[in-house]
Amino acid sequence: MQSDLKRLLTLQEADRLVMSIEAEIQTFEPEVAELDAGVKRLEDELTRVQRNLEEANKRRTELESNIETYRVTQEQRRQKLEWVRGAKEASALMAEIDLARSVLAKEEADWIRSSDEVQAIEAAVAEVEQRVAAEEEAQSPRREEIAQAQSECDGRLEEASARRAEAAQEINRTKRQLLTMYDKIRGGRAPLAMYELHADACGHCYTSVPMHLREQIRRGETLATCEACGVLMFAAE
Ligand SMILES: [Zn+2]
Repeated sequence: MQSDLKRLLTLQEADRLVMSIEAEIQTFEPEVAELDAGVKRLEDELTRVQRNLEEANKRRTELESNIETYRVTQEQRRQKLEWVRGAKEASALMAEIDLARSVLAKEEADWIRSSDEVQAIEAAVAEVEQRVAAEEEAQSPRREEIAQAQSECDGRLEEASARRAEAAQEINRTKRQLLTMYDKIRGGRAPLAMYELHADACGHCYTSVPMHLREQIRRGETLATCEACGVLMFAAE
């Protein structure tokens, strides 16, 4: 009985170590999430200005193609004017050319505005790109520290898990059902499977334990579970 208890306590120690390293690993998560969110905010902003740039470029290209079409048509009118005979037809054509000239002038003014807009957005894109790079650079020392700490934890976790497996194997070899019971209790609500008696009560839920059972536990005669919460109770030597 005493050696069973000893083996179980060794297993529980191994489990505690594994749990504490796992908890340590989890403490990095919020900080990493915050760092990621910082980069993502800027990347989202970058995507937004890049999309604006695409649209502005598209508008400018459309204006360019319109202007080109107007120019060609206007040139055709001018050529036509060369050989038009009738004065009436010529003056109608002249009026058309004048009108088209003012339309073209307006389109060209729009193109200049559009071109300025493209330049302004290009500058905004460059500025946000710079901010993304600056943020990544600013984060990089801390990220390296975290990565190093994580890999150090991973190493310790691997070692602790191996030790846990060893301790479990030690019990499994002699008393398979004891390991099954331990694992089943651990799978329940209590964080650990075994709790030391606390005065006359269970050390986990503080439900009192009958005196005769307490005495048996103290003498190491039995591995008793708490009636209320189901954990294994033991007495310190
Ligand atoms: Zn209990």
